[in-house]
Amino acid sequence: MKAITVLGSTGSIGTQTLAIVEEFPERFRVVALTAGNNLDLLIEQIRRHRPEVVALADGERLEELRQRLEALEPSARPARQPELLAGSDGLCAAAAWPSADLVVTGIVGCAGLLPTLAAIGAGKDLALANKETLIAAGPVVLPALEASGSRLLPADSEHSAIFQCLQGTPWAESARLSTGVPTPGLRRLQLTASGGAFRDWAAADLHKATVADATSHPNWSMGRKITVDSATLMNKGLEVIEAHYLFGLDYDHIEIVIHPQSIIHSMVELDDSSVLAQLGWPDMKLPILYCLSWPERQATPWRRLDLTEVGQLTFRAPDRAKYPCMELAYAAGRAGGTMPAAMNAANEQAVALFLEERIHFLDIPRLIERVCDRHRVDLTTSPSLADVLAVDAWAREAVREAAATLSTSTPTPLLA
Ligand code: NDP
Repeated sequence: MKAITVLGSTGSIGTQTLAIVEEFPERFRVVALTAGNNLDLLIEQIRRHRPEVVALADGERLEELRQRLEALEPSARPARQPELLAGSDGLCAAAAWPSADLVVTGIVGCAGLLPTLAAIGAGKDLALANKETLIAAGPVVLPALEASGSRLLPADSEHSAIFQCLQGTPWAESARLSTGVPTPGLRRLQLTASGGAFRDWAAADLHKATVADATSHPNWSMGRKITVDSATLMNKGLEVIEAHYLFGLDYDHIEIVIHPQSIIHSMVELDDSSVLAQLGWPDMKLPILYCLSWPERQATPWRRLDLTEVGQLTFRAPDRAKYPCMELAYAAGRAGGTMPAAMNAANEQAVALFLEERIHFLDIPRLIERVCDRHRVDLTTSPSLADVLAVDAWAREAVREAAATLSTSTPTPLLA
């Protein structure tokens, strides 16, 4: 039985991971949970999974959590109360919890960086959902993996698809593909993208996009931040950088293709020109389960893919003018060093301001571009963790400053 830690257990990735654990109780058990501040859901999860330790990011609510757990009916109360921890140190301690075999990183944003590094430092295998950690701090995370021997299993559906395709190749035994070294025999990656909430909108209409519009994904049910990232296609740009760090290909060999049905989750092209793809319904449970069960396959009763039901699989090149975030991500990835950290933090802050309805949808790429331009002169090519954290903090502040100078009127339409 594999012992699992879930970082961000109250989010979309976290709840789906726990649903899998409940479905296969003979294979998996939970030893540690962390959450931001959703106490209602966290308490329910503690009741159901009885973890050894629980960490809450919001330390001010720790006492409330303790009291609410003690006040539970005896029948609902865990026989042994979990150890309760809080704040950054608490999250890191839970991430490094000794009895865990695998840590699922479902915290959103760069807030996941320190807990992820703590898990790596403790030699834990990782199911990596929290892509922002790798994007902001690839030059720190990869050497840490190398030093600790932790294995990095991609939970993002596209990277899981690539990872699954590579299992059939001669170099499959190198389970951890995350060394930044080119994977031998691998020529090109094609990351598929649904196109997000605005795939059928004209570029000239995007200036009218509201928060409600941007948070309605046509195919996937996910947290709010990643859903907005899908609407700007920043999510795919982040995944390009993630793929670069995971599979070691340069940016000229990682491409994006719009595939509205989200059935093919990505493709790899090998040296002999053969292309391998992984298919499935758009459901994150499958890539999460593969991380949990790897290298084995867990039999499931889940809905079988029926291509006659799907009918058509279509593909088109992404519209680069409509999705400037995609190009910003490629440019940041190519610049390397601390530039992806600056871009990622600028994106996180800009998306947060958009979700608070303080900026317009089209301001997101404009703010990111401004911050990346400013960072060019300060770029550090081989950053330390302290460099990454400093750039992250600087870029967030730079976005807030720049946002304050924006006009509150509706921005100029793209391509108008
Ligand atoms: P959600 O917003 O649904 O969940 C985020 C989780 O992180 C919640 O448990 C939240 O706690 C916790 N959290 C938020 N802020 C902090 C913080 N400062 N410190 C500690 N914990 C915090 O996000 P998703 O599950 O959608 O995404 C999680 C990660 O997985 C992201 O990096 C995303 O890009 C990636 N991913 C997600 C996919 C999906 O299908 N959802 C697909 C592929 C990748 P609380 O709610 O208690 O405040």
